[in-house]
Amino acid sequence: PPKRADDKSVIDFRKKHLGKSLSLQYKRPIKMVRGSGQYLIDQHGRKYLDTVNNVAHVGHENHAVVKVGQQQMALLNTNSRYLHENINALTEELLETLPPELSVLHFVNSGSEANELAIRMVKAVTGEKDIIASEVGYHGNSNMCVDISSYKFDGKGGSGAPEHTHIFPLPDAFRGKYRGKDTGKLYAKEVQNQIEAIHAKGRGMAAFIIEPIISCGGQVELPDEFLRLAYEHVRKAGGLCISDEVQVGCGRMGRTFWGFQLHNATPDIITIGKPLGNGHPLAAVACTLEVAEKFDNGMEYFNTFGGNPVSCAIGTEVLRTIKREKLQENAHTVGTFLKEELKKLSPEFPILGDVRGQGLFLGFELVDANLKPLGDKADYLINRMKDHGILMSTDGPDHNVIKIKPPLVFSIENAEELIFYLKKVFAEDFMIA
Ligand code: PMP
Repeated sequence: PPKRADDKSVIDFRKKHLGKSLSLQYKRPIKMVRGSGQYLIDQHGRKYLDTVNNVAHVGHENHAVVKVGQQQMALLNTNSRYLHENINALTEELLETLPPELSVLHFVNSGSEANELAIRMVKAVTGEKDIIASEVGYHGNSNMCVDISSYKFDGKGGSGAPEHTHIFPLPDAFRGKYRGKDTGKLYAKEVQNQIEAIHAKGRGMAAFIIEPIISCGGQVELPDEFLRLAYEHVRKAGGLCISDEVQVGCGRMGRTFWGFQLHNATPDIITIGKPLGNGHPLAAVACTLEVAEKFDNGMEYFNTFGGNPVSCAIGTEVLRTIKREKLQENAHTVGTFLKEELKKLSPEFPILGDVRGQGLFLGFELVDANLKPLGDKADYLINRMKDHGILMSTDGPDHNVIKIKPPLVFSIENAEELIFYLKKVFAEDFMIA
């Protein structure tokens, strides 16, 4: 058999020849060689339960998805300037899940490209460029996306909000500016304040962008009524509403297929990414007919890879698999069970401060009695869980929120296994001290 490079030489090579700002997961990084369903397998044949990967939506290396991709790749792959059934089939599958207002699709290759296109659309439609976004929001890696991502420009290496970006406080009812019940109206007023700040500069607003659950911000659920009221304020000011569904979309919420549907509010544009291709680079922008018509101002939108027959075959099969295997329902059942079981742990382990989320998009926050974030314990916990063969990740501005967003094939047994090991690690000296 071919000689495999040892981990140290793989790491040394990366450090020397790959981008210097690439990060590695875990103190002792893992080399994965295979994926299967909700599991990843390393080079030693060790199996890990994956609670992190929200891209491998219908399961790592899902057979049906892999097969249609291989078959189409062997037959034809071209750009979207030729007629092809696959792009129509994927569009039909998506339209079936969307409200009738969102009737036009554009296909791209990543969440960043989707948000980039959404911002181009709102600029074209409104003639304005001022964007309101949430504190600690993240919307992608391109220039424009970083410019609207407080998670980046307010963090290490960043230099604050650009002139046309307006950030309102993270609508976090647990540790945010306003806490407890009924904070929706107060946070929506914060959005209104930003609208007024834009007007005070003599400008109008282009758009308001937010995720229905703020992922990088630490799985922060939007308070009741917030989104509906914020959209009302934005529309009154002539702005458009963008829902970033890159992490939360495609059935993960359980109760609903899209995140915005939790909130009784319909955006003008939604951006779809990660899960749509189950690991293949595929993303999309859905918008209203009005937005699509105004964006068609004479300048062609061309995307070399977006909407190609291979990507569309894959996306179509992902959406059909969600339906066939009832994965949205599974997200609801397993997610509800897991959330309840996590909540049951908090009386015994008081550092478990808040359990939140929807479907299989959950998070729990580690804090002390004064709500001080415990990032070091979160880091310890995910490294210890790895020792028990379970992959977990942390996020939030204080890195003290553990995120749970596994492939949607995650089962009740998987949830039970997760709880079993969490209990074990929570009881360790470092976690209690
Ligand atoms: N929006 C959100 C909410 C995201 O989490 C991400 C990626 N983490 C993006 C956009 C960008 O997607 P991509 O990395 O595919 O460009």
